[in-house]
Amino acid sequence: MKDATPQTIRLADYAPYPFTLDAVALTFRLAPKATRVVAEIRMTPRQPGAALALDGEHLRLISAAIDGQSLSAEDYILTDTGLTIHPAALPDAAFTLATEVEIAPEGNTALQGLYMSRGMYCTQCEAQGFRRITFYPDRPDVMARFTVRVEADLPVLLSNGNPTASGPGWAEWVDPWPKPAYLFALVAGDLVAHSGNFTTMSGRKVALNIWVRRGDEDRCGFALGALQRAMKWDEDAYGREYDLDIFNIVAVDDFNMGAMENKGLNIFNAKLVLASPDTTTDGEYERIEGVIAHEYFHNWTGNRITCRDWFQLCLKEGLTVFRDQQFTSDMRSGPVKRIEDVLTLRARQFREDQGPLAHAVRPESYVEINNFYTATVYEKGAEVIGMLRRLVGDAGYRRALDLYFDRHDGQAATIEDWLAVFADATGRDLGQFKRWYSDAGTPRLRVEEHWQDGTYTLEFTQVTPPTPGQPEKAPRVIPIAVGLLSPNGDEVVPTQVLEMTEARQRFSFSGLAVRPVPSLLRGFSAPVVLERDATAAERAFLLAHDTDPFNRWEAGRSLAREALCAMVAGAAPEPEHIDAVGRLIRDGAADPAFRALCLRLPGEEEIATALFERGTVPDPDAIHAARGRLAAALAQKHEAVLSEIHDAMAVPGPYAPDAGPAGKRALRLAALALLSRIDGGRRAQALFDTAPNMTETLGALACLIEAGQADAALAGFRARWSADRLVMDKWFMVQLAHADPANAPALAARLASDPAFEWKNPNRFRALMGGFAANHAGFHHPSGAGYSFYADWLIKLDPVNPQMAARMSTAFETWPRYDAARQALAQAALARIEALPGLSRDMGEMVARLAKANR
Ligand SMILES: [Zn+2]
Repeated sequence: MKDATPQTIRLADYAPYPFTLDAVALTFRLAPKATRVVAEIRMTPRQPGAALALDGEHLRLISAAIDGQSLSAEDYILTDTGLTIHPAALPDAAFTLATEVEIAPEGNTALQGLYMSRGMYCTQCEAQGFRRITFYPDRPDVMARFTVRVEADLPVLLSNGNPTASGPGWAEWVDPWPKPAYLFALVAGDLVAHSGNFTTMSGRKVALNIWVRRGDEDRCGFALGALQRAMKWDEDAYGREYDLDIFNIVAVDDFNMGAMENKGLNIFNAKLVLASPDTTTDGEYERIEGVIAHEYFHNWTGNRITCRDWFQLCLKEGLTVFRDQQFTSDMRSGPVKRIEDVLTLRARQFREDQGPLAHAVRPESYVEINNFYTATVYEKGAEVIGMLRRLVGDAGYRRALDLYFDRHDGQAATIEDWLAVFADATGRDLGQFKRWYSDAGTPRLRVEEHWQDGTYTLEFTQVTPPTPGQPEKAPRVIPIAVGLLSPNGDEVVPTQVLEMTEARQRFSFSGLAVRPVPSLLRGFSAPVVLERDATAAERAFLLAHDTDPFNRWEAGRSLAREALCAMVAGAAPEPEHIDAVGRLIRDGAADPAFRALCLRLPGEEEIATALFERGTVPDPDAIHAARGRLAAALAQKHEAVLSEIHDAMAVPGPYAPDAGPAGKRALRLAALALLSRIDGGRRAQALFDTAPNMTETLGALACLIEAGQADAALAGFRARWSADRLVMDKWFMVQLAHADPANAPALAARLASDPAFEWKNPNRFRALMGGFAANHAGFHHPSGAGYSFYADWLIKLDPVNPQMAARMSTAFETWPRYDAARQALAQAALARIEALPGLSRDMGEMVARLAKANR
């Protein structure tokens, strides 16, 4: 069923729902082809004379009654998108609506609503999946208490809240907390639990279960520990206590998203739960811990206080990402986490902001809300909260959050409510700050310096480039954390936060003996592009002496980026950069994880972005070649010390996923990545043959692929892991991400015809297509074969799983950056998708936005 005329939904059109929901009772009689859902909803009218409009899609209505009286055909209008009951058929006072519908979970390949994954029933209701389960006001500001009865001949029957009664083939659950429908969940299957418990700060004991398929139960220990750490951290850092007797997590193989914070019953993509040293990398362990925490933290920021409408998505997501970032910083290394987060922000969100898909943290209109689960809403949303905290200070932030939980518990709130608690708790006017929520685009912050008579002046200018629908923007509040160093390396002015509010603004520091070297935007204090003409020598100086770890890394990164941009245009490697890398890797006092981050070269996409920002059309093949030449030059110059590091960073003894040993492995692999450029893959082969964990196995495999020596290794890897879906996803991804770009489109096509490519499984699809799109010069192959291959698969996936297809289409968002020939080829691929009869609402909106060049 397709939507004939997709509607644009606007923030300005918001109106409250004209009924209050007092109680919801649901009964599920589960069957793969014909599940029956009986709903009894107790409601009170709030506006006399209003019609009762209920959302519903892909439902077969069996019966509908009000207060026990069956409705007749003239009492309602039934369409493809809902059921509307005429006011004349409604009582003036509280009433009960009872409906029965039939749905077919087995045929639900969109993976929204109730569906099946390898014999197990599960649900995904955010954002608008509940309307595929029963007729209901499927909007987040309608909150109600749910009672659920599940009937099925399966051993494990779960829903939200606390279990109240069960017997053979049935179970009942009651959720005492009012919630919107998007937080509803149901799971039924033949599952086993890895169990534990947690005692809350007030002494209540909570049962914890991680539910998985039989055979996976020995891979749940890490996730359970992460959940316990998250529960403790939220009590310590935010004073938030858990509020049910039980907390369940279920791992599902077929899942569009990462994980979902349904009240008391989180549903997870299996790859974000299951972990063991021989199947899971260090990076994945960290991600599992972070996502388990993220979904748990939603219990307060998202569930107890939810969003009034989907335009406020950043209210729960930006805040909860910020909280999970704080948690990971506390569990691991703060500076390393900050660098990783900024790398992600730049790679995903800055890229989004620069292209045709740019939108505000709080957008003002959408066609399909699933298309707005973006890096801007999540990652930039978190940066905005980080700026707020920097501006009001730690104590002000805590007061504001306490007030937020106090004032809005049990409510569906807005960004206005959120900013009001900061204004009320700190006395600050946030009118100008609010532009961070309404204006798209990444501000460019240009700095000029003046030095006279012991006074040093920084003069900043901010400009935000135009974005779709927003040609001009007013200045924003930008917190700029600054420190000053003397030329001998001493810090003469420690970090202070300058608050920029004008388009152009000067800040002076007087009483200085010598002209200082500035360290600007410490800790990446605002999500902006800083433009400053610095010499290679100055960047090398900051890499050696800056007291701010983020800016130390940033100095090294910009040194490498500048060197690479020059090399793309034909220059030789920058000696200042080669020498600075040498000093850094010999610095045994620095954290290995930090040194690993400094040793990794900027990716090809990052170089393309840097070139584009300075007005140069990026050439993907030249970028690929330049990056290879620089890696080889670094390896040649520093072979001895890199080789020493590679050997010294081997971690003996049993594997632990903690930050310490993980940092050593990261440094070891960063050294190996360079050495493999000059040793023909000799060391990588040796590591691959003996590696005792997946981190080093996969790292060595990537090096072998780049060295063109991976045929035997890939075959061996496949033979060993063919039965493990999560590991086979890595097999698909790694070989495409690291393939020789000239052959990448052909390789992608070959892998897509491999019998193991189960393309309807979201993880497998993402592994192959995501791995290919990550191969910058391969995806942007000059023949257009990359665009064409990719478009073919989006066309194939769209009718099956429109949400996934639309999300994966963002690979095309950078097309306006490239040369005219590539632009034409990418546009042709997009036009082919757009012309498809019966294109989904999801994909229709995406291709329409993608097709518009923003310049
Ligand atoms: Zn979230």
